[in-house]
Amino acid sequence: SAAIKLDQVTKTFDGRVMAVDAVTLDIAAGEFFSLLGPSGCGKTTSLRMIAGFEHPDSGRVHVGGKDITDLPVHKRDMGMVFQSYALFPHRTVAENVAFGLRMRDVAKPEIERRVAAALAQVALTGLETRKPGQLSGGQQQRVALARALVVEPPVLLCDEPLGALDRKLRQQMQFELKELQKRLGVTLVFVTHDQEEALAMSDRIAVMNGGRVEQVGTPTEIYERPRTRFVADFIGEINILEEGGRPRALRPEKIRLVAPDGARVAGTVETANYLGGSTLLRVRPVAGASMLVRETHAGERASRAPGDAVGLAWNDTDAVA
Ligand code: ADP
Ligand code: MG
Repeated sequence: SAAIKLDQVTKTFDGRVMAVDAVTLDIAAGEFFSLLGPSGCGKTTSLRMIAGFEHPDSGRVHVGGKDITDLPVHKRDMGMVFQSYALFPHRTVAENVAFGLRMRDVAKPEIERRVAAALAQVALTGLETRKPGQLSGGQQQRVALARALVVEPPVLLCDEPLGALDRKLRQQMQFELKELQKRLGVTLVFVTHDQEEALAMSDRIAVMNGGRVEQVGTPTEIYERPRTRFVADFIGEINILEEGGRPRALRPEKIRLVAPDGARVAGTVETANYLGGSTLLRVRPVAGASMLVRETHAGERASRAPGDAVGLAWNDTDAVA
């Protein structure tokens, strides 16, 4: 696997749209690295510059210590997987997976061996002769993955690869992809707009906003110690505390439910959204804006219901950004 370095990379479209604005990233060899942010923040453009589909206006891209900024796509030795799969519809699973090896003039017995190994890796053995149209969405995504991995690239680039899958399958593929990435040791750059997905899968995350990187960190750092309001707000639920000058942010699960008397905030439960194992309560304080409180419970339901008077408590050290 190879390290990737983006050094002050900038890309504008039509001389106006600043898609990527002086982005600098250091991605370690063998790392599962996610670009996370809302639609239009520059994730895909960043990934396409690593792949070579876009050339930066300024800045340099390094892979494995080499400056590859001016290298064409086919000389970059990277695997790519898209949300749309982009499989060849009239070719079989085996032919789809063999494609990259054929392009590289690999000998036939070697192709057969490696296609079989790649299909085994993504648990598709036995489906070699099917066409993409005869596969489920999850299976098609696995074919796309096998096709990217069969050439054993040191770098794998994935642009919202699980976006078209339903929730259950998506979760299963999250586990599988992460496990596969670790097993192969490939450097994986993963684009997603889904916070939970990025938190669950990544070694590190770069949170992007308006073409810039707001923060780079481990999932825990990003979630527990967001450095900007944008990051705090984008990742999970957050309460904004206006008390005492500088506004700060507090996660719903950092708040404890206590007796109303003498509590830091006293109020009434407005709504209680049962989430299975936890409940998200919205509390309307006597004064000020509503606050979200997450109560985890081992039993069937939360300890409070709409209409209940409650007090809220938290530690100052848990309020961030
Ligand atoms: P993301 O993947 O985070 O949704 P993109 O990288 O696709 O964001 O896009 C970033 C910005 O650049 C958006 O404003 C988008 O409209 C614009 N953009 C992307 N590709 C092109 C293009 N080929 N021509 C013009 N504008 C583009
Ligand atoms: Mg995109």
